[in-house]
Amino acid sequence: MISAQRFTARAYGKVNLHLGVGEARSDGYHELATVFQSVDRPETVSLVVASDARRVSHGSVVERMSTDFRVNEPEMDIDTPTNLAWRAVDAVVEAYRGLPGTDHVALPTLSIEVLKTVFVAGGMAGGSADAAAALVAANHYLSYYAQHHFSEAVLMRIGATLGADVPFCVMGGTALGTGRGDNLAPMLTRGEFWWAFVSQQEGLSTGTVFEHLDDMRHNDPSLVPRMDTGRIARSLVGGDPIAVAGALHNDLQAAAVTLHPNLRRTMNEAMGLNPLRAIVSGSGPTLALLCENREHAQRVVDALTATVAYEGFVARGPAPGTHMVD
Ligand code: ATP
Repeated sequence: MISAQRFTARAYGKVNLHLGVGEARSDGYHELATVFQSVDRPETVSLVVASDARRVSHGSVVERMSTDFRVNEPEMDIDTPTNLAWRAVDAVVEAYRGLPGTDHVALPTLSIEVLKTVFVAGGMAGGSADAAAALVAANHYLSYYAQHHFSEAVLMRIGATLGADVPFCVMGGTALGTGRGDNLAPMLTRGEFWWAFVSQQEGLSTGTVFEHLDDMRHNDPSLVPRMDTGRIARSLVGGDPIAVAGALHNDLQAAAVTLHPNLRRTMNEAMGLNPLRAIVSGSGPTLALLCENREHAQRVVDALTATVAYEGFVARGPAPGTHMVD
């Protein structure tokens, strides 16, 4: 019997070491000056083609998807066609079908399996990592069944249509992101950084946090955009975690903390454990605590999950970009 064909890729969550949020643009996005760092907390996405799969020459090749949660499961079912991994597979197939001479090619249907270890709606780009892994896996599926392979640059362009963080999740490492955050330049870093990530409550919608920052800025002129990434860039070249800790910054933090008052309590509790620094990760509500080493990060996670946080993990940055897994 012929067994199923599997295409498996892995992508990683991220933390923003600097998140400068400028004015809202006419397209609704805010101008960003951000420094992303991927951390080794993986999202693993498999595209599984059954040996007796149907072949289709139009419409979605995805028949179903399932997510295995190693973090708290959201109330809403996310295994739907709106899932970023599902949309990523559809987008790669559509890009292929847009090429000349591909009309006659019928591709086999597949199912998507996701192993999720990044918090859902936590500000760590878990969904974007799923999209990145699905893009890379779909590219290998296309190579196998249609002998066509898109370049990484094209995959990143397709990824940008799905979400502003997706291109960075494809690239990984440490990078400066401008524009919507999808105009990327790799950055030089030395050493490794140990993080404790904890989450205390229901996720925040990224859009809500950006809108709240706009409202707060109307009333508080001190909340100016911090678009200069020079200090974090210099500290990363030096590789000293204490200097990096001093340079961490997130313009969205004030808005995230107001929307989730419990975050302040978790922050206060966390400071008692002497992390080098505590910041809100991206749009929150995950708290990212930079620690001295792995053991320190584990102690912080253990202490906070025993008291104020309901889930947490240790992760090291930087992590690689999206890659295939055997
Ligand atoms: P970011 O840091 O990029 O803003 P996030 O970590 O805050 O992202 P995600 O976990 O990526 O948030 O997802 C936010 C929402 O998007 C979820 O509540 C869910 O409804 C929807 N979603 C779509 N695809 C996915 C996916 N693959 N994983 C998780 N959520 C997804």
